[in-house]
Amino acid sequence: MQKIKIAISSCLIGNQVRYDGGHKRSKYCLDVMSDWFEYQPICPEMGIGMPSPRPPIHLVSINDDIRVQQVDDHAIDVTADLKDYAKRTLSKIRDISGYIVIRNSPSCGMERVRVYHENGNPTNLSSQGAYIGELMQLRPELPVEEEGRLQDPKLRENFITRVFAYDEWNRTVVKQPELKNLVAFHSRYKYLIMAHSYKAYRELGQLVANDGSKSIPKLISDYEALLMQSLRKIASSKSHTNVLYHIFGYLKKNLSSEAKQEIINVIEQYRSGIVTLITPITLVNHYLKQFGSDYIQNQAYLNPHPIELGLRNYL
Ligand code: SF4
Repeated sequence: MQKIKIAISSCLIGNQVRYDGGHKRSKYCLDVMSDWFEYQPICPEMGIGMPSPRPPIHLVSINDDIRVQQVDDHAIDVTADLKDYAKRTLSKIRDISGYIVIRNSPSCGMERVRVYHENGNPTNLSSQGAYIGELMQLRPELPVEEEGRLQDPKLRENFITRVFAYDEWNRTVVKQPELKNLVAFHSRYKYLIMAHSYKAYRELGQLVANDGSKSIPKLISDYEALLMQSLRKIASSKSHTNVLYHIFGYLKKNLSSEAKQEIINVIEQYRSGIVTLITPITLVNHYLKQFGSDYIQNQAYLNPHPIELGLRNYL
């Protein structure tokens, strides 16, 4: 399988680009995820010409604005340079399907980066890093996550699900923008979307049904925005249970009463938090291989990412 390209804060892959001349090598990104992802390292501070080591910068609240300034000399302000670098980076990252950043960086931090007063004391405000904040506005559909948050199994599974979905979306629809490809994508992703948001599942279905009022490019861009926004929502055990029962509905007529009861028991054990999601999914997949139609076997929900990543093994 071809690796999926994702961008990453350069210090996370061990490059010595930090203000102190060091790095923040991420064991998880490099040792666990690198079998599936090809990393494109980006350091915006080096990108705007800052050396390593360099004097540190931080976020400063000035009137209603948040600026990025050198800690020991607020006359040095790199806000505009970092935002401009985000715009210039866009053309270099057209083919990426995700972005992993480091937390609490005034350039790369995705959220909750500390903000200081002009006198250097901390405020009770927090914000995004200037570079990544600008980039996320320019490409709102791009899955972005902080490396530290990937330690949380639910956030990790959510991010990697989005990356794989977005990669497939780009390969199968954006690069071949035809209605039939959009319909095929939606048909394969129905239950995955339903697990994240029932409302989005209905709205995306209505979009695909296209009443003819939208051009294909507009339809595709509206679908993409709603798809990626809905997948950001963490799928709850209640919604997974709902989807599992929907899929079970495709099997019922071919199963013995013992097999039906076995599946129901395992779904209920999952609902009660006794077993992890991978348990009912494995059992359902087993019966689908024997009795499932192509349509249901092809559902992205059943295998949204490689099983080796072990992402559905949490309670
Ligand atoms: S700017 Fe970003 S990539 Fe560069 S050192 Fe800081 S956190 Fe790492």
